[in-house]
Amino acid sequence: MLTVNAIAATSATDPLVRTTIERRDLGPRDVLIEIRYAGICHSDIHTVRGEWGEVPYPLTVGHEIVGVVAEIGAEVTRHALGDRVGVGCMVNSCRDCDNCQAGLEQYCLAGNVGTYSSIDRDGTVTQGGYSTHVVVDEAFVLRVPEAIPYEAAAPLLCAGITTYSPLAHWNAGPGRKVAVVGMGGLGHMAVKIAAAMGAEVTVLSQTLSKKDDGLAFGASAYYATSDEDTFKALRNSFDLIINTVSAPVDMRAYLGLLRLDGTLVSVGAPPEPLQVPVFALFGQRRSFAGSNIGGIAETQEMLDFCAEHGVAPEVEVIGAESVNEAYERVLKSDVRYRFVIDIDSLR
Ligand code: NAP
Ligand code: ZN
Ligand code: ZN
Repeated sequence: MLTVNAIAATSATDPLVRTTIERRDLGPRDVLIEIRYAGICHSDIHTVRGEWGEVPYPLTVGHEIVGVVAEIGAEVTRHALGDRVGVGCMVNSCRDCDNCQAGLEQYCLAGNVGTYSSIDRDGTVTQGGYSTHVVVDEAFVLRVPEAIPYEAAAPLLCAGITTYSPLAHWNAGPGRKVAVVGMGGLGHMAVKIAAAMGAEVTVLSQTLSKKDDGLAFGASAYYATSDEDTFKALRNSFDLIINTVSAPVDMRAYLGLLRLDGTLVSVGAPPEPLQVPVFALFGQRRSFAGSNIGGIAETQEMLDFCAEHGVAPEVEVIGAESVNEAYERVLKSDVRYRFVIDIDSLR
């Protein structure tokens, strides 16, 4: 066992604190990663605050992990010492079910093993990336292209793949009109990736305060959802809407913005159910869908796509001592556009 420094939540209401956690001894296919940066995803906040169900406290969260390979098991072939690598939201799956065989490990029929708060193969609870080191099976470790700086690579491992996957699946590209609801961590990546794919992108944000940023990220239009005229002006407009909002929103209003055969994909994961009025679907044969992160091969494809197209998140790098403050700012939608923890501050 390796004892490493980490930040952990001890209850739903107390601030996160510095602590130590154990990492398992390296198995033959394991990689020891010295973590450099870890992104703060809103899912970390939903989780530690108990909004998604029971939490095995104390818990270290973080599933946007980037670092350097520090040690490899005897049978590791995909990664070498010193490689720049990343880990996202999953660290294992059954590898045998139809979905795993199809490279869709995020939909593993036996349930994928989450990077934190999941039961690992050895029966222990997985602990995430707000820590100095992590041990992960090589099959769930991604290569981070040289063109992407470490701190910018971290948010790609969740915010990047979670938006890339539905954009690719529902064919965002030239001639397609895509709207992104909420321009936080996921939302700003959705704008950049959809624009890089060639789609015509509109941002639907609560206010116009981030309009200049949205247009600079590649959107061609930006509307405030606090303005009722927005929903009249954009009725029957979009082929695809990616909803990244962390709270429930008025589905009737957003579904009305889809044109014939359009799809609204919710990647936002509020604790409360979303109310989907079926008559809003009937009107123009619309679809309502969900999407969960992305598979390992697709995550590698996304990293390579971002390197090739010069797509990178906007990050605000913070020290470990500022994590609680960063959580409060995320909750106030005061994030520009992803907080990333400099893990050197934990050593
Ligand atoms: P975030 O940075 O907090 O962004 C969410 C954005 O939603 C905010 O910046 C804000 O954008 C908007 N928003 C927040 N509260 C709102 C409200 N009450 N009404 C309307 N708009 C509101 O969060 P994130 O890290 O991008 O994560 C977003 C959601 O996706 C979370 O629920 C998270 O758990 C989920 N998630 C899902 C997956 C998946 O695989 N499906 C993966 C990762 C995360 P504006 O200021 O522009 O309005
Ligand atoms: Zn996440
Ligand atoms: Zn499986």
